[in-house]
Amino acid sequence: METIALTIDGKKITCPAGSSLLEAADQNDIKIPRLCYHPDLKPYGACRMCLVENESGRLVAACVTPAATGMEIQTATPRILKHRRNIVRLMIAEHPESCILCAKGNRCQLRQAAANLGIGETDLYPMPNHKPFEEANPFMIRDLSKCILCGKCIRADHELVEIGAIDYNMRGFRSRPATVHDRGLEQSNCTFCGTCLSLCPTGALSAKNMQFAGSPAEEQDSICGFCGVGCRLTIGSFENRIVEVNPAHDSESVNGATLCVRGHFAHDYLGSSRRLVSPLMRKEKEAQPELVPISWDEALDRVAGRLKDIKDKYGPQSIGFMGSSKCTLEENYLFQKLARVCMGTNNVDNGGHVYGQSQTRILDEKTDGGYRLAHLADLKNADVIFILGADPSHSVPVMAYYLKRAARNGIPMIVADPRRTELVNFARLWLPVTPAGDLALINALSALLLERDSCDQGFIDRCTAGFSAFQQALAGINLDESGPMTGLEPAAIKSAVDLLSGKKITFVIGHGILQRKNADKSLAAVLNLSLMSGSLGRGRGGIFIVSKENNQQGALDMGASPDLLPGRQPVGSSGLKKVWEQNWHTKLSPDAGLNMPEMIRAAENGSLKALYILGENPLTALPQHARVKRALKKLDFLVVQDILTNKTAAMAHVVLAGAAMAEKAGAFTSLEGRIQSFLPVVAPPGKARADWKILDQLQARLGRTGPFDTIDKIRAEIRRFIPMYAALNGHHEAWIQPNAQKAAFHIQGDAERISFCPVVSARVTSPEKNYPFTAIVGTRRYQLGSGTRTRASGRIQGLGSAGRLEISPADAAALDFSDGDSAVVRSPWGEIRRALRISSDLKQGNIFVPTGANGNDAMELFELADETEWKSCAVQIEKA
Ligand code: SF4
Repeated sequence: METIALTIDGKKITCPAGSSLLEAADQNDIKIPRLCYHPDLKPYGACRMCLVENESGRLVAACVTPAATGMEIQTATPRILKHRRNIVRLMIAEHPESCILCAKGNRCQLRQAAANLGIGETDLYPMPNHKPFEEANPFMIRDLSKCILCGKCIRADHELVEIGAIDYNMRGFRSRPATVHDRGLEQSNCTFCGTCLSLCPTGALSAKNMQFAGSPAEEQDSICGFCGVGCRLTIGSFENRIVEVNPAHDSESVNGATLCVRGHFAHDYLGSSRRLVSPLMRKEKEAQPELVPISWDEALDRVAGRLKDIKDKYGPQSIGFMGSSKCTLEENYLFQKLARVCMGTNNVDNGGHVYGQSQTRILDEKTDGGYRLAHLADLKNADVIFILGADPSHSVPVMAYYLKRAARNGIPMIVADPRRTELVNFARLWLPVTPAGDLALINALSALLLERDSCDQGFIDRCTAGFSAFQQALAGINLDESGPMTGLEPAAIKSAVDLLSGKKITFVIGHGILQRKNADKSLAAVLNLSLMSGSLGRGRGGIFIVSKENNQQGALDMGASPDLLPGRQPVGSSGLKKVWEQNWHTKLSPDAGLNMPEMIRAAENGSLKALYILGENPLTALPQHARVKRALKKLDFLVVQDILTNKTAAMAHVVLAGAAMAEKAGAFTSLEGRIQSFLPVVAPPGKARADWKILDQLQARLGRTGPFDTIDKIRAEIRRFIPMYAALNGHHEAWIQPNAQKAAFHIQGDAERISFCPVVSARVTSPEKNYPFTAIVGTRRYQLGSGTRTRASGRIQGLGSAGRLEISPADAAALDFSDGDSAVVRSPWGEIRRALRISSDLKQGNIFVPTGANGNDAMELFELADETEWKSCAVQIEKA
């Protein structure tokens, strides 16, 4: 790298070519004050606080002046200090005199700058610049009287999150950041990610409901507990209460200076009145059996005793363990060990199953996990990005920021989705594929690319097997036949081929693929296309699987799955089973385990007698809520370990009060394969305990494993037995390490190659006569998953998001619907009633149903079947 040598304040320094003077100073520990500069934003030169003097005596703004060889720079001469003081004096002269009541307190950078420059009272005529106080939305307060026009909020909005909700309005003294037509933020396209708030140097932007709650006395980095992006947070606490959440000041984090609305604002659910603060037990003998607080010893003795009794009476298969992809790696490891080693059953699953996470098995089997080598930072170097059935702007918003920035930088993006999602505005091509047409689309694309000879023959020869058979199978695919299956014109498919031809393809796969009947076949087709185009391996493209929950990847890695042992090793492999029997000094169950829906159905038919639910709410998350309730009622024993009261916990015989992510130590694995450990920020409420401690204390009563009385002991066992997690530690982040040759795509000699998957043709299904519409369900950014946690957030509830149905203008006209009308949507399995809105994002015949809202009643439209085909279904709609 070319370097530049210059002198700052008499010190000879070097910096990389292209650095600004401010960056050169920062790299060499020379402090230059600044207000409008942020390393993630383009330099702007607005505040002029970074004025420095060059060798010819000219004053220049260091943030926008490139460093050049031989420069001699002074940063703090009397002349510079005089100018800086004048700048700050002018800012203070138009600032309101409300510092004593300002939530920013001593963290205000303007106040700090004034103090550092020795400015007390300003002798200038005060001209406070009063502007309207805005607080109609539930997330943030804008007091633009305190705005110093640094432009950080506007630049963050435009450059980092690519929303464009605000810009400068007016000129001169009246200038301010504002929305179009100066409406309230809640009436604009602002997504309340709060990035502007975190960057604001003064008290112009502050979080709602946190005024006078106390300034953070302590700050601790943690990991967001919502989606699989795994954003790093800095959480501020005061007297064991969380009072502030911001993006961590860590340039290496996945999120940099950004967060989304959930990460920034929805962690207030931790202080919800719905928190469980003590173990509870149902006093069966009383007339009105209700859950009453008990001691931990009583609760744990009861759980261990009942599980032992039921196992002795009905055998290990009569007990199920329904875990959580929100819990930590350590907790998932202990939970599946509780099932397999203490109870002798493979009946263990985690909530990621609802979102089709287990469907990714095909990719693991074929590549030994190598498809997980893609990092979000690599998106900026992608050849072409292909988004299939995913709406990252809502499900994983920080990933959407990466995608938008890549598209803005000229990287072609294709979006295949039946709905016009937000990312379509950034895409070169939108393929409005029918809700079940993805498999036919991918096969058609592969066939056309092969016709053009668009493959990476070197990669195919080096890393794969079975290419000829794959070629032959695709030769039978007829593009004309794809039309009815995909709903796309041949010209649209050909346009996609033009964009993909000769490129390494980065795939982003969402729930439009994962929550479908043929998910494994569609994923196999994606893998085939990746292999033939040589798109796998570090820096080549890769496959991103959108994970709705924070530890979906990690829960599977830890073996919280009926058919996977830790390290995603198949339970069915006798060799691997033997290895784990040796590791754990036990005989493992030869019986196949039950997944989440199967456990409910086993409870329904009476073969499952006890269910231990950790951090899941199946009564809301699974389809057919009344059926799930009936099944749970039949159990002899139901134990729920959770942080919030919920419908499932209300049915339990024993409830164990767990700790949320900010109240315990642990680690999550993000959708990139980034393993991130964290420490507690505050203590759990009341008598609640970290879930890993509860599991350890229970295992102590059941014998056969442990003790795991420290989190380090659990981590040591994970590191020892799961090579992919050899780097797991308690100090900093690490990456999963798929270390087989196959996984790293460094296949040499006779080593096993990655075989192409069989080509499966999609079939056209005839539309259901009585159910002529297709309901597509999906996440809105304010309610994640089943909404159990986001509905406990006061701020999210303050938005009053009713989860309106959406219908196309043509269907609305045909059915005489107006915006705001109430509608009934009915499927063969259930019905829901909601208000609707007319949306041009939908094609005729499709209806959109947001999940999470209204007790997640969207799941009532689906059947509790084996396959998690819970993304779309045939429905009818009429006025309520
Ligand atoms: Fe949290 Fe996901 Fe939002 Fe990041 S993108 S702040 S991990 S919810």
